[in-house]
Amino acid sequence: MSAPLTRRTFGLAAATLAGAVSARWLVGNIHSGEARLLRPPGAKSETEFLSSCIRCGQCVEACPPQALLLATLAEGLSLGTPYSRPEIQPCDLCRGHDTLECIRVCPTGALSPVEKHQDIDMGEAVLDTEICFAWNGVTCRSCWHACPFPNQAIVFDELARATIDEESCIGCGLCIPACLTDPKSLTIRPKGATTLAAQAKED
Ligand code: SF4
Ligand code: SF4
Ligand code: SF4
Repeated sequence: MSAPLTRRTFGLAAATLAGAVSARWLVGNIHSGEARLLRPPGAKSETEFLSSCIRCGQCVEACPPQALLLATLAEGLSLGTPYSRPEIQPCDLCRGHDTLECIRVCPTGALSPVEKHQDIDMGEAVLDTEICFAWNGVTCRSCWHACPFPNQAIVFDELARATIDEESCIGCGLCIPACLTDPKSLTIRPKGATTLAAQAKED
């Protein structure tokens, strides 16, 4: 049988809950500049994005393929901001049209217009050559067919192995659902995480 909830035990429980919540916020704060989340097209650096996004959710509402989610408390300072999980539903660049709905509806410029789709910089695809069919003797071009920039973002070498071109890949994630391996051979590294990883290598 559980102990009766006295003022003292209530106080302890409240303090424990507050501690857990603040620990989560702290973790979020520590990571807030490093873009662990894949942001929608048009987002600037993670720090700029966090300071200009007002958490209105209009981009999430407007996204035709429902590719955007709102971050929960587990994401600390990112709470209420939009992000994409391409393994569930990638951004389809609004089906290839010039107008990108999330950018169109954003009231603050947290998502700002891009001249052309190739200018989008959500992040970059990372290919696991250990499991990619094309690297293991099996003919496969599924990601290439799904990519909006075949022969630019995904390039096949003379041995028919896929490679990602960092400059051309925009991080949309359309290649992920197309990938035929289980688990998927492709993941997306968000833009800010790329910068941090590069910095870590330099340090
Ligand atoms: S560009 Fe279109 S499909 Fe992509 S996240 Fe924005 S609204 Fe959704
Ligand atoms: S529409 Fe703009 S301000 Fe509103 S949640 Fe999306 S990114 Fe943030
Ligand atoms: S390689 Fe993948 S993430 Fe990069 S542009 Fe092509 S489909 Fe998008």
